[in-house]
Amino acid sequence: MIPYAQARERVVGSCPPLPPERVALAQGLGRVLAEAVVAADNVPPFANTAMDGYAVRADDVAGATPEHPARLRVVGTLAAGSAPSQAVGAGQALRIMTGAPFPSGADAIAIVELTESDGDDVLVKAPALPGDHIRHPGEDLPVGVEVFGAGEHLGPGHLGVLASAGLSEVLVGGRPRVGVLSTGDELVASGPLRPGQIRDSNRASLVALLVRDGFEAVDLGIVRDEETAIRAALEDGAERCDALLTSGGVSMGDFDYVKKVLDEIGDMSWMQVAIRPAKPLAFGLVGSTPVFGLPGNPVSSTISYELFARPALRRMSGHREGHWERPRIVGIVDEDFRRRLDGRVNYSRVRARFADDGRCHVRSTGGQGSHQLRAMAMANALAIVDDGPGLRAGDECPVILLN
Ligand code: AMP
Ligand code: MG
Repeated sequence: MIPYAQARERVVGSCPPLPPERVALAQGLGRVLAEAVVAADNVPPFANTAMDGYAVRADDVAGATPEHPARLRVVGTLAAGSAPSQAVGAGQALRIMTGAPFPSGADAIAIVELTESDGDDVLVKAPALPGDHIRHPGEDLPVGVEVFGAGEHLGPGHLGVLASAGLSEVLVGGRPRVGVLSTGDELVASGPLRPGQIRDSNRASLVALLVRDGFEAVDLGIVRDEETAIRAALEDGAERCDALLTSGGVSMGDFDYVKKVLDEIGDMSWMQVAIRPAKPLAFGLVGSTPVFGLPGNPVSSTISYELFARPALRRMSGHREGHWERPRIVGIVDEDFRRRLDGRVNYSRVRARFADDGRCHVRSTGGQGSHQLRAMAMANALAIVDDGPGLRAGDECPVILLN
């Protein structure tokens, strides 16, 4: 058996980033910037008011109070979207709305709440200091500044910022197209079961994991435990996709042909990883397409995806090193997690919650067998229980947050 870190390095190291592509800004959510973006203009582009009110000269309203307001002549009204019009002279005010360009001559905004309109005049009941409520050009993004660097993961806020900077397209890392193939004579897609059959759950989980993580999933269906069919499905999948996930057929069974075929058509590593579940992992390249031969047991295939395929696919998408894996925090187990010494690290399916003590507490979500998918589904975290006798309630352990 080899340690997880070593196996992961081998896998992720063989999955270089895909070529970047240019996409419309609206398609950029969840993608990774492939080049730095520099502000071509100031944002905001011009000085404007942050409040509704009057553009005034601070000197004209110094010492104003509700009892002794400053009286100014209103020389016009400026709405957001208007071009700047006249200047503001001594004893004058310009009615102005949030976002409208700040006029010359004035140096402060008297907010409307502290004024009273009086015919052609306005009474200003409080002083305004020079610069009050004025937003200056470039205060958000000065021209020439690096807005985001290459490797930045684009969220909704990023798209807003890039729109404000005038971008309609972005250069982002490629989005892996990932084929998902189930293997096994016992599998049926749906409907009633004949003796010996079970329903295919891995494809449903794996396709959904890919979609959730922002990759493109291609459902390649179920293939029987039959050498020619498996070969055809793998060759076709490797041709059409940037990466392939297969499940089943990589153990020591008599009908585990995935292993045999991959050995013939691919450059494969067969790993026994010192973890539970998901000990067996086949990884390699068919042509230049990475193929992840995940174990068949439903929990194992999900955890193998989390621990190996997801980091590799994130690297292919352009994520920077350090952003390939999920965050780990220190949690406290609220119950015993007993186990035996066997050279493997356990990834226990748990529910993590932040308690009033400000710490993360975890509890098992149920049956921890590698076929017991419900406990995997209910888990929002994996508790890492090192080799040895396990943990007692109150002990600390590393926790991988799954969402
Ligand atoms: P295998 O690795 O092919 O020996 O499969 C290991 C176990 O996982 C067996 O009990 C299989 O029936 C089960 N299994 C394999 N593929 C799937 C699947 N797609 N959905 C649900 N169970 C599966
Ligand atoms: Mg099988």
